[in-house]
Amino acid sequence: MRFATRAIHAGQEPDPTTGAIMTPVYLTSTYVQEAPGRHQGYEYSRTKNPTRTALEANLAALEEGRFGLAFASGMAAEATILQLLNSGDHVVCCQDLYGGTYRLMTRVFQRFNIETRFVDATEIQAVTQAIRPTTRLIWLESPSNPMLTVCDIAAIAAIAHKEGIKVVVDNTFASPALQQPFKLGADLVLHSTTKYLGGHSDVVGGAIIVNDEALYQELKFLQNAIGAVPGPFDCFLVLRGIKTLAVRMRAHCQNAMALATHLAQHPEVVRVLYPGLPESPYHPLATKQMSAFGGMISLELQGGPERNIRFASKTKIFALAESLGGVESLVGYPLVMTHAAIPAEQRKKVGLPEALVRLSVGIEDIEDLIEDIEQAIQASR
Ligand code: PLP
Repeated sequence: MRFATRAIHAGQEPDPTTGAIMTPVYLTSTYVQEAPGRHQGYEYSRTKNPTRTALEANLAALEEGRFGLAFASGMAAEATILQLLNSGDHVVCCQDLYGGTYRLMTRVFQRFNIETRFVDATEIQAVTQAIRPTTRLIWLESPSNPMLTVCDIAAIAAIAHKEGIKVVVDNTFASPALQQPFKLGADLVLHSTTKYLGGHSDVVGGAIIVNDEALYQELKFLQNAIGAVPGPFDCFLVLRGIKTLAVRMRAHCQNAMALATHLAQHPEVVRVLYPGLPESPYHPLATKQMSAFGGMISLELQGGPERNIRFASKTKIFALAESLGGVESLVGYPLVMTHAAIPAEQRKKVGLPEALVRLSVGIEDIEDLIEDIEQAIQASR
């Protein structure tokens, strides 16, 4: 089955009792056993729930991986991956990434003596040089949040595998509709399903997909032992969202490309970060490892932080809000919103501009979106 068909059908059968075409929401914490230990595969819903089982099978099929695991949030999925590590282990991580991931590594796992080295993963040499004998994971976000950098997943995976290091790819920005990290050598694919997979800004969730069975068993053990699992209704919402992923991503990409092209020619725009623009330094690599360039754009208007903050407050269709990947367009100011957890010193080191505005381009009519951005540019002068 091809992607759009898998998105709608994988992991889902009509309900055997009623024929209901939609997966039932199994609102149950426990399951009746025939005799102690004799049951139909379900004992307790932290361990396993049928709505979650359907979602996990669907997630695996989307990434063309073997095993999917669903979590209560993207951060819960991330924390579970990091729980694979032991005290003294080392992580090499891309330096442009979601602020919450930076916070998790530096302020939570550092306490357990798991150290992370943040490097410019768009430079292969920087990744290679950061590897130590204790490095167990290389963590990549591509395209990255919020600078939309693209790193060479296949080249980095080849280096990692020579050293016995596993590669995690946070595929939240691309979604499996545009990028399949397993084909590029990733060992673990991570998602905040809150974003494009859910797609409607009505649920928080996370996912990990893997191919290696031993790794899956270890993660499944941690999923149950730690317990950061999603409820059945949340699983239902993500499953339902995924059904339209293929069409939504086409519309997000089309709108983002049109808006990025418009902004790139605008006299008041200092820079537009979008890997789909031919002038982007990441365009050739993005063309190689993605089928289209996604719905996220970052930009900077002339006039410094104050002008850009004014701009972010003047849009009418683009709502000023955290998060991304929903059908509705959002505008954010990473410095004080999604990336507030990154200290100023680190932001300077990685070159995160103070005046950056991030757009999550929705699937509204593109003419309305361009008009909204135009009026906000004028109103922010
Ligand atoms: N990864 C990326 C790239 C994100 O943008 C986010 C959240 O914004 C996360 C992970 C964390 O996901 P969640 O908010 O679902 O915990």
